[in-house]
Amino acid sequence: GKIQAMSAEVVDSNPYSRLMALQRMGIVANYQDIRSFTVAIVGMGGVGSVAAEMLTRCGIGRLLLYDYDTVELANMNRLFFRPEHVGMTKTDAAAKTLAEINPDVELESFTSNITTVDGFEGFVRSLTQAPLGFQAEPPLPGGPVRGKGSRVDLVLSCVDNYEARMTINQACNELGQPWMESGVSEDAVSGHIQLLLPGETACFACVPPLVVASGIDERTLKREGVCAASLPTTMGMVAGLLVQNSLKYLLRFGTVSRYLGYNALADFFPTMEMRPNVQCDNAACRARQAEYAALAPEREAAARAA
Ligand code: ATP
Ligand code: ZN
Repeated sequence: GKIQAMSAEVVDSNPYSRLMALQRMGIVANYQDIRSFTVAIVGMGGVGSVAAEMLTRCGIGRLLLYDYDTVELANMNRLFFRPEHVGMTKTDAAAKTLAEINPDVELESFTSNITTVDGFEGFVRSLTQAPLGFQAEPPLPGGPVRGKGSRVDLVLSCVDNYEARMTINQACNELGQPWMESGVSEDAVSGHIQLLLPGETACFACVPPLVVASGIDERTLKREGVCAASLPTTMGMVAGLLVQNSLKYLLRFGTVSRYLGYNALADFFPTMEMRPNVQCDNAACRARQAEYAALAPEREAAARAA
């Protein structure tokens, strides 16, 4: 009765109103800004596809999707993909479903392996160059800072291997592009998300001992011949933590976690902050650290003025 009438009215009154839940609850005044943000998601697997759906339902402006793989029946123990998608590329299947859920989201999909030479170039190009005839929106004043020449506000890493993470790390360090990393352990009962701001926080190459510190030892490397466990619950949790942190980062509300772990067995959510390593192997990381240090007086002046 009443609830149905209300939701019908909400859908009719304004094309965006169905997306305005946080605004109506008074959590964020600027919720409609979500439409001006572009997020790139690398990996359309158990975490990335769910993160893409969440951002689509939140009314994100634009999504760039990357994956080289196709949907298999074995993926049905995860969320998002359905048996009718089997055989399609993950990017095409995702773009099709997401466009049906919210036709207002601009979708660009890239079926490529970002770790190859061509794939890496294409990845960086897609982050910086818009397709022909495409009107890129300028970043919002006072909003999150994009990388140099980047048309993307945030890159989400939802891949399942070390090499792909190092590739995203390289591209984002070169551009000075903010990104978030995510992972689920091979035993499927723990995961983490991490915010990486080149020059300001540790990059993915800065702190190898993270693997030891977090206790998530196998999260980065896929071992040959080991069949990784998979739980839609853990992957859904990690996708939720990742997108929640992305919303807070983009819309500037609440506390944005630098690192948030999830241990499903103990229901333990460790947090930590990691400073960059001045001796990081990655030259682009060291260059961003030098730039960040040089801007310290400006930041202090701005903090005093505020
Ligand atoms: P499984 O390995 O168990 O079959 P999966 O490959 O689907 O699972 P997920 O953790 O669910 O793994 O998702 C990770 C996703 O990241 C996959 O869809 C995979 O194709 C994608 N991916 C990994 N490396 C790259 C890469 N170098 N370039 C593009 N996509 C990648
Ligand atoms: Zn580094």
